[in-house]
Amino acid sequence: MKSRRSFLKKASAAFAASALAPFAKATEYVPKTIAPLRDGLVLSTWNHGMAANEAAWDVISRGGSAVDAAEQGVRVTEADPEGRSVGIGGLPDRDGNVTLDACIMNSEGNAGAVCFLQDILHPVSVARKIMDDTPHVMLAGEGAKRFALANGFEATDLLTPDSKKAWEAWLENAEYEPIINIENHDTIGLLALDQSANLAGACTTSGLAYKMHGRVGDSPIIGAGLYVDNEVGAATATGMGELVMRTLGSFLIVELMRQGAKPQQAVKEAVERIVAKNKDVKDMQVGYLAVDKEGNIGAYAIHPGFTYALHRDGKNRMAEARSHFG
Ligand code: ASP
Repeated sequence: MKSRRSFLKKASAAFAASALAPFAKATEYVPKTIAPLRDGLVLSTWNHGMAANEAAWDVISRGGSAVDAAEQGVRVTEADPEGRSVGIGGLPDRDGNVTLDACIMNSEGNAGAVCFLQDILHPVSVARKIMDDTPHVMLAGEGAKRFALANGFEATDLLTPDSKKAWEAWLENAEYEPIINIENHDTIGLLALDQSANLAGACTTSGLAYKMHGRVGDSPIIGAGLYVDNEVGAATATGMGELVMRTLGSFLIVELMRQGAKPQQAVKEAVERIVAKNKDVKDMQVGYLAVDKEGNIGAYAIHPGFTYALHRDGKNRMAEARSHFG
């Protein structure tokens, strides 16, 4: 009797352990104690990341927070009229409206976002205000604009003469066709690790050129265009937003790192996921960046040509990411 009882006890313990096994991996994550990377780092998308990195580094090198660095960094790109895919100068939708998407996440896991915002120069700062001063995460369109104006942001015409000319040329043989191909994107996603080893990030864009009015991409979606978990790492995306949204790329990357993947393995797997689930990615680019708590980085894209800027060890430099087809 005794041995039967102990058998049943053992069997039910074994059953409980096996039933829990699939979940154990995800719930048993224990944050590692990691020595902080003394000086921090800044990592951002594309060539314009160089100037953004400088502004972010200025904050970090003075002992500032990762979230301030992320915001200040991408504001530089938002204010640059030469950039055709971020802030002022961004190419409009098919009806000639510049509509902006942005988000920000801090080291405490708080997030703020705006989408389909018009006439406001710094959507990332509106996102920051939503994060800091409201109980919400995202405001859209007219409501986001009203919130911005009520909080001291000024209305600005964001359609520059050059972007207007480009749109008019496009209209001449306009057929609605999303053309976010290898040449046509510029979203800035910026990840910052500060001197206290805290992580934050920001992502901002005018989105897909000549998109349908009202279209919102991945960039303001927490988990798609950006995700930060201060215990694990951070990731950001650029490129064809629909591909990123359907696979929740940035969240996926951070979760892969939580399960032990290095940033480079995680970004590669997130790109492979897109390629596996979409028959034709011939003309569509997506690039991911990631950083973990120790300051290891990852960069990977569908196609060659995805460049990023890394400010680390006192140097700001450009590099090209590896790619699935490269
Ligand atoms: N990811 C952005 C979007 O889909 C565009 C881009 O990166 O250029 O809106």
